[in-house]
Amino acid sequence: MTSLPPLVDSFGRRHNNLRLSVTDRCNLRCFYCMPADDVEFVAREELLTFEEIGRFVTVAARLGVDKLRITGGEPLVRRDLPVLIEKLAAIDGIQDIGLSTNGILLGEQARDLFAAGLRRINVSLDALDPVRFKEVTRREGHEKVLEGLQAAKDAGFDPIKINAVAIRGLTEDQLIPFGRFARESGVEVRFIEFMPLDADNAWDRNRVLFASEIRSRLEAEFGPLVARGRPDPTAPSSDFEFADGRGRVGFIASVSEPFCGMCNRFRLTADGKLRNCLFSLIETDIKTILRDGGTDEQMIESIRSSIHEKAEGHEINTARFVQPDRPMFSIGG
Ligand code: SAM
Ligand code: SF4
Repeated sequence: MTSLPPLVDSFGRRHNNLRLSVTDRCNLRCFYCMPADDVEFVAREELLTFEEIGRFVTVAARLGVDKLRITGGEPLVRRDLPVLIEKLAAIDGIQDIGLSTNGILLGEQARDLFAAGLRRINVSLDALDPVRFKEVTRREGHEKVLEGLQAAKDAGFDPIKINAVAIRGLTEDQLIPFGRFARESGVEVRFIEFMPLDADNAWDRNRVLFASEIRSRLEAEFGPLVARGRPDPTAPSSDFEFADGRGRVGFIASVSEPFCGMCNRFRLTADGKLRNCLFSLIETDIKTILRDGGTDEQMIESIRSSIHEKAEGHEINTARFVQPDRPMFSIGG
């Protein structure tokens, strides 16, 4: 396959990092992502098949995409996910595949995922306390996530990272336990600021626990945090280590310190829509090209024009901000 000029947007950002949502279904109902009940999911026949996803990624790889992250909804509820991972890992040019999961089904699937070639896993867990876990996710399953983490370790995954959305007034009391967990387990815990992508349109800036505040609280308890080098300057997380060498934590400060200037990511939704930004208000229909006999050249043109239209950054911190119609579970986080 011939490679093509890379995907560069009108601000000079090169896009090599694709996030693939494989389903919008989920076995939890985190309040910042999904409605509590009566969720309308995409009809199964509207989900891209593994063949369609594979074709899209093959084309994207010709445009310089070398990094993939599988997400959702909850990607582990999509049947035969290891088959897709194996398929994607074999595509020319794909060098790195990661997965974001809530961990509930990891106990059952960790070994098969590892055998399929997956090496990097992020497990989302916002609370070490089961009561808080249920308040956030509105479902049971805390024990299963902890079992899933252990299964991922046993299967050989490295690195395993925990992603914890920090919510003022709800998970503040989890910060110190998470700091302790990072120090004792060797797992890196990354704190994510709450973004306006909830289904209820109830996001409120006052509920965002800013990275700087989380950092101060951890330092007050465990001593200074020292910045680790940034091997990948496009990575959204700022990573730190406690000065005594025990424990790593990171901060994804999407609201208080936006990292749009270095963004190299774009997304394909489970129903085949291309989005150049989480907060984009427009999307590009790839599924019709895939299903109605469109050519690879048409797909390349659509991808290029989507990237070209990408805005300079999100506008969460301005009065101009408009929350997208699609909440996080439907876009793919
Ligand atoms: N179900 C999987 C999971 O939870 O990891 C994958 C999809 S989930 C949408 C991906 C990530 O987005 C999770 O770490 C989740 O906590 C995060 N997320 C969802 N809604 C968010 C919001 N409104 N603000 C910040 N992070 C959010
Ligand atoms: Fe499901 Fe992940 Fe959204 Fe929670 S954050 S509801 S686990 S998709």
